[in-house]
Amino acid sequence: CGIVGYIGANQAASFLLEGLSKLEYRGYDSAGIAVFDGEKINVAKSVGRLNALQKKVELEPLQGHIGIGHTRWATHGRPSDANAHPHTDCTGKFVVVHNGIVENYLHLKEKLAAKGHKFTSETDTEVVAHLVEEYYNGDFEATVQKVLSTIEGSYALVFLSERDPDKIICSKQDNPLVIGLGDGENYIASDIPAIISRTRKTYILSDGEMAVVTKDSVQVLNYRRSVPVAKKIFEVNWD
Ligand code: GLU
Repeated sequence: CGIVGYIGANQAASFLLEGLSKLEYRGYDSAGIAVFDGEKINVAKSVGRLNALQKKVELEPLQGHIGIGHTRWATHGRPSDANAHPHTDCTGKFVVVHNGIVENYLHLKEKLAAKGHKFTSETDTEVVAHLVEEYYNGDFEATVQKVLSTIEGSYALVFLSERDPDKIICSKQDNPLVIGLGDGENYIASDIPAIISRTRKTYILSDGEMAVVTKDSVQVLNYRRSVPVAKKIFEVNWD
């Protein structure tokens, strides 16, 4: 339901929790964040209100400068800690958050399970993380492109990889996603209120676009045709 992402010099978790709180008005049943600590990606998630997640993070802080977060409005699988996003593959090296519905997830889940993938949730989203693991060939961008062309449905999706810890990749189809442009840092969110206290310069992603976001750059491409898209900055001028 709500999505946030951060890459830059500051602590990711503080923005992720702040950004998710700005999206609370949309409603949700659980929340979670994932942060890369320099060696591995750590995940914290909790069913219920955001302060349940905040308490967990206070007890065991997630340190690091790149991370993603999500508030979930369950469509597939009941509200629970296990079904909360972010979702990971078998190795925990690839992490995703997702708004929307992966329509062909059952078919994909069966195929992946037959290849030995073990699932830990009842969500449609978890297949996306396992697809990244299945397809990963050292090229994170190409892998995500292949995943996006495999799934059907609606989505705003954000991907983090322990093997490629200098970037976040995101894409959208029928669900909103914006990128907030900072100075030596960049933000991702499903809606502008999450980032407005940090930056007013944004790129509004269109359907079929995929963005590779580092702390100093944002490259957008049409992932189906593999061609770069020259985005115009949308300056937010309301409060
Ligand atoms: N379909 C996903 C799930 O049920 C995402 C729901 C959402 O948009 O929050 O986990």
